[in-house]
Amino acid sequence: MKLVTKILALTLAMIMMVGFAACGSKTIPDEPADKPAKTYVIYSDNAFAPFEFLDTATNQYVGVDMELLAAIAEDQGFAYEMKNEGFDAAMGAVQAGQADAMIAGMTIKPERQEIFDFSEGYFEDGSILVVGKDSPISSVEDLKGKVVAAKKGTTSTDYAESIKDQYGFTIQYFEDSPTMYQTVVNGNADACFEDFSVIGWAIKNDGIALKTVGDVVNPGYYGFAVKKGSNPELITMFNAGLANLKANGKYEEILAKYGY
Ligand code: GLN
Repeated sequence: MKLVTKILALTLAMIMMVGFAACGSKTIPDEPADKPAKTYVIYSDNAFAPFEFLDTATNQYVGVDMELLAAIAEDQGFAYEMKNEGFDAAMGAVQAGQADAMIAGMTIKPERQEIFDFSEGYFEDGSILVVGKDSPISSVEDLKGKVVAAKKGTTSTDYAESIKDQYGFTIQYFEDSPTMYQTVVNGNADACFEDFSVIGWAIKNDGIALKTVGDVVNPGYYGFAVKKGSNPELITMFNAGLANLKANGKYEEILAKYGY
């Protein structure tokens, strides 16, 4: 090969190499921007009106929690997939790292703060004793020898367990609120404990033949939760979004839609 040809060939090879390198260095920094943003998996209860419940007309889950989360995600620009699997299932999924977070009318309380990180509270509620519409039971004192229906994993169940020996009743466990109510309506259990606003909705809007007795106990705030130490950015975004919705009137609008 002539020297000139050699130089030419070498120059060409070098140009090509630089070209490839340039292409390479161009595509690499672009990659993160092309990657789709994370879609968080968020679990909830499946029958806890007015916070989350199936709208049979649209076959969509609606309610305060569903709308608050949607508005917060829009405000903060994050994507999520909602799974309405039940309350105890949601707590299990978050703890197992199968879900990134949960929103399920979940009361913030110290025992839970050991295993979950919570957002700011967004709604206050507590438990109340619930009996059949015509039941003579008028206080916890009347529960001696009775059967109390309880929904697994809830603060109402923690409360029932804490007083069962004192008042002498036994507990039957259920996965969801409607089955628990129905057991009391059918007379297969004598009472249950439920969050006041939720049983209030069921009696008023679903015509459930039950009534509340006495006062609300153990009031607390509902919070959005992640597994302790995980997804801190989700808690930050939830709190920032909630503050924005409170400031722009959207929070009030959502609550008003469900009668608050
Ligand atoms: N607020 C209650 C709790 O945190 C009940 C929640 C629910 O049943 N979805 O345990």
